[in-house]
Amino acid sequence: MENRLNIYNTLTKRVEKFVPNTDGKVAMYTCGPTVYHFAHIGNLRSYICEDVLEKTLRYLGYDVKRVMNITDVGHLSSDADTGEDKMLAGAKREHKTVMEIAKFYTDAFFSDCAKLNIKTPDVVEPATNCINEFIHMIEVLLEKGYAYRAGENVYFDTSKLKDYYVLTGHSEENLFVGVRDDVEEDLNKRNKNDFVLWFTKSKFEDQALKWDSPWGVGYPGWHIECSCISMKHLGEYMDIHCGGVDNIFPHHTNEIAQSESFLGHKWCNYWFHVHHLNDKTGKMSKSKGDFLTVSLLEQKGYDPLVYRMFCLQSHYRKPLEFSYEVLDQVKASYDKLKKRIAGLKTEKNEDGSLKSVDKEAFDKFTESFKNSLCSDINTAGALTVVYDVLKADINDDTKKALVDSFDYVLSLGLVNAEQQTEDNGADEELSSYVEEMLAKRTEAKKAKDFATADAIRAELAEKGITIKDTREGTVWELNR
Ligand code: AMP
Ligand code: ZN
Repeated sequence: MENRLNIYNTLTKRVEKFVPNTDGKVAMYTCGPTVYHFAHIGNLRSYICEDVLEKTLRYLGYDVKRVMNITDVGHLSSDADTGEDKMLAGAKREHKTVMEIAKFYTDAFFSDCAKLNIKTPDVVEPATNCINEFIHMIEVLLEKGYAYRAGENVYFDTSKLKDYYVLTGHSEENLFVGVRDDVEEDLNKRNKNDFVLWFTKSKFEDQALKWDSPWGVGYPGWHIECSCISMKHLGEYMDIHCGGVDNIFPHHTNEIAQSESFLGHKWCNYWFHVHHLNDKTGKMSKSKGDFLTVSLLEQKGYDPLVYRMFCLQSHYRKPLEFSYEVLDQVKASYDKLKKRIAGLKTEKNEDGSLKSVDKEAFDKFTESFKNSLCSDINTAGALTVVYDVLKADINDDTKKALVDSFDYVLSLGLVNAEQQTEDNGADEELSSYVEEMLAKRTEAKKAKDFATADAIRAELAEKGITIKDTREGTVWELNR
């Protein structure tokens, strides 16, 4: 297999050629959501970029196995084991049980992912499914001397490692997040950045989920879940591990510490981190309370795929600022792009394949598309190739074949755009007339002018066009 992807690796701090442990196969892990609230569009930026990474690998021909956890226990409001339990706070806020909250927000997360064309990973495992695996890893860490018991909790001893800070390249002082002015210091910790593997005694007397363990009834720390869940499904060696940049420390640093101490060898070769989506006030975060969700964008009339395109236009290693002005510009480009693709005049063979694809041109543009993605997932460059194809002096069948193939990775619904128009059975002129009438009808409905809205429906019906209002918007069909 030709390894041609070059990717920035947080571990080595440079762009490197991606070479998996087993030729042609990739073991990939993604930190999943903490399901105490809706995912905000910042979280979803990370999942969109990770989705593009996975699809790029598959597009290049790798056989990818991707695993993701669902954090339904153990994540406290500070990533350094202090503050409130996020799940418990969510349950209290909504007067529900922790498991009800977990189920509701896990479903909501996957529903948002579906709207954004984010593929569900091959394996999705909630942390609460794996308590025995966590206990086993903690037992081994205690046996090997990497962990200690104090104040009835079990802690990882970061002083036992030569290079605990391998992922960050920073010193202990710079990264210490465990003690802030407003948070009580945990005096059980021997070293500042030691972290909890298992809690039996904490300040949450009312912890909802508890399990028996060799150290008493309690619950796991947050970091142990990703080490165990990834090993359960991917084995002892992992190729690539993903998350947002806030996961680098302490979460991923602690995952490496636990996993490599447990295994006795290097664990994961490449670390992929997505930079944050910010709003005007800074990083978008769930704890801020007032955050943007996919549903909110839909309510404001945006197709979620417009947000996907907004993300693809910038590089995953740059912070991205959200604004409605830019989203509106993207919406205009997205609509125009779909229209252009819908206007391609293609001819198909009986088996549904396109009639006259120019192989040389197809290969040439496919190379450019792959080159962009292989340059550290340059999605903006990959989008430019789509425009280059549409502008090129090649036949429409070739254009359509290229866009179809690129949309596997971009997942912007570009293929469906054409199918929908084909299914309508209408030509371009009729399509733009109907779209115009539908826009007028939407305006009329908004203004509660139902007489005009009904008149538009009747006018369209006279021309043999049936319209139907769906949750996704109005769809139409030409009756032959
Ligand atoms: P959480 O549900 O808080 O565990 O976060 C889920 C994922 O979203 C993690 O990979 C985080 O690193 C990532 N994340 C959190 N906030 C942002 C943000 N503002 N922009 C991009 N990714 C984020
Ligand atoms: Zn994780």
